[in-house]
Amino acid sequence: MNKKELQKIKEKALNDNIPIIMDDTLEVMEKYLKEKKPKRILEIGTAVGYSAICFTDFLSEDGVIDTIEREHERVIEAKENIKKAEVEEKINIFEGDAVEILPTLNNKYDAVFIDAAKGKYPFFLKEALRMINPNGIIFADNILYKGYVLSDYNKHKQRTAVRNLREYIKEVSENPELETKILEVGDGLAISKIKNNT
Ligand code: SAH
Ligand code: MG
Repeated sequence: MNKKELQKIKEKALNDNIPIIMDDTLEVMEKYLKEKKPKRILEIGTAVGYSAICFTDFLSEDGVIDTIEREHERVIEAKENIKKAEVEEKINIFEGDAVEILPTLNNKYDAVFIDAAKGKYPFFLKEALRMINPNGIIFADNILYKGYVLSDYNKHKQRTAVRNLREYIKEVSENPELETKILEVGDGLAISKIKNNT
């Protein structure tokens, strides 16, 4: 990967107010993924490709990332960025609404990164669980949403998002097949490991 280009991509994204993954969140994910060396990662919410480019560092040698983005302009920019960062052969972008694209995918993933419409997190979780490998790991970014999720906050235009993020936390916490941690890094990160029953 071209690190110098990555730095430029990051600076431009921050300048353009694109909500890219925060440094502390990325650091935590690196801790989980670098030793794991995933063969296949699924990302929901590409934006301009910043996080996907960062994740290529964690992949096994022949590993790939599938990433989904619905905004055409962002897809165009992501493709340019991926090319500049010299990681084209490691990232597949799917353009469209993840709610429509996910049910068409049938790959097995070692890691899933959920980072798109907060109101759809419970649906994204269901799809992630369908495609995750045993020993896989599911991350959900922005899970604490500026602190709204753990406060008694409930009367705002963002309440659907907050309700669905709470629903996500409830589901991953109650699912006996998962071992979940909620970390206060960045905007909140949920980490759910698939329990190995063997
Ligand atoms: N993962 C990126 C940031 C993603 S920002 C990074 O860290 O670099 C969230 C992105 O998800 C936005 O670009 C938004 O357009 C996209 N998005 C939101 N809802 C979506 C959906 N239902 N399907 C596909 N993309 C979606
Ligand atoms: Mg995010």
